[in-house]
Amino acid sequence: MRIDEVFERAGAARKLPVSFEIFPPKGELTLERGREVGSELAAFDPSFISVTYSAGGSGNKGATTKIAEAITAESGIPTVAHLTCISLFRDEAARKIEKLRAHGIENVLALRGDIPADDDRSNPHPADFRYAKDLIPLLVDAGFCVGAAAYPEGHIDCDDLDRSVRHLREKQDAGASFLVTQLFFDNEYFYRFRERADRAGITVPISAGVMPFMSKQQISRMVFMCGASLPSPVIKLLARFEDDPVALRQAGIDYACRQLEDLAEHGVDGLHVYTMNRADVASACMSAVRV
Ligand code: FAD
Repeated sequence: MRIDEVFERAGAARKLPVSFEIFPPKGELTLERGREVGSELAAFDPSFISVTYSAGGSGNKGATTKIAEAITAESGIPTVAHLTCISLFRDEAARKIEKLRAHGIENVLALRGDIPADDDRSNPHPADFRYAKDLIPLLVDAGFCVGAAAYPEGHIDCDDLDRSVRHLREKQDAGASFLVTQLFFDNEYFYRFRERADRAGITVPISAGVMPFMSKQQISRMVFMCGASLPSPVIKLLARFEDDPVALRQAGIDYACRQLEDLAEHGVDGLHVYTMNRADVASACMSAVRV
C-alpha cells in the first residue's frame, strides 16, 4: 500500500500512524537476518516499516530493496525503501529505480545521503544529483509514493532554521507526499518546527522520529552526526546511570515512550520509531501509544 494512502486511511479512522525504521544488518546473513528482524517487528502491527539504505561501505546496500519486499510479502505491512543520491549519475539512478519497481516496491524515502568524509564540500562529489529534491521527480514520474527527510532542529549543514524549512518545502514541491523527521530529544523543537512548516505551506503529513538512547557512546555519536540537542533531563539520566548500562538502556526506552505519548497528545500526523532493529524497543514504544 502507498504511504499517502496509509495516512489517509489512518486520518479517516482517527488512528495515529506509528511506523518503524530498521537497517539492513551488516555481514553475510544480511538478507536472512533482515527478514527475521522485519518479521519480528511486523508482529507489532506498525503502519509501515522503512528500511535504510547505506551509501557507504557497509556492504549491505543491495539488501534494502529485498528486505522491504520480503516484509510486505510475508506480513502485508507496507514498507518504504530508502534511496540516497549523493554519488549517483542518471543512468545508475534509472537502474536503481527499475530494480525497485521489479521488486514491487511502492514507497521510497528519497535522500541525499551524507557527504563522504573525504569530500571537498565547496566542490562536492561528482554526481548528477545535488540535493534530495533533484531525485524526487524521477521517483514520482516512475509511479512511486515518495517521502523525504525533515529536520526539526535544522539540518546539520544548515545553520538557519527558516532556510532549512524552505529547503523542505522544495522537497514537497518536487513531489514528496510525506515527511519523516530526524530524531530529537526535546519535543518542543518539534512543535516549533511544525509551526514553521505550517507557515511555509508544508501540508503533507510529518511523522515525528524518536530514537531511544541506549548508551552514552550511542547518544554522543548520534548527537555529533546529526546535531540534535541534548536537553537537561537526558543529560541527568546519562549521569545518573553512567555505571549501570542496563538501567541506562531502560531509562532511554522509558524516555522515548514519554516523548511518544506527549507527541500523540499533541496531535502529530504520525510517529516514527528508530527501532535499531530491536523488538524490545518496538514493543515498548508501541505499547506506549497504542493503548
Ligand atoms: P537534502 O534535502 O538534499 O539536504 C541536504 C542539505 O542541503 C541540507 O543542509 C539542506 O538544507 C541543503 N539544501 C537542500 N536544498 C538546497 C538548496 N536548494 N540550496 C542550498 N542548500 C540546499 N542517510 C543514508 O545514507 N541512508 C538512509 O537510509 C538515511 N535515512 C534517513 C532517514 C531519515 C528520516 C533522516 C532524517 C535521515 C536519513 N539519512 C539517511 C541521513 C541523510 O542522508 C542526511 O541527513 C543527509 O545529510 C541529508 O539528506 P537529505 O535527504 O535531507 O538532503
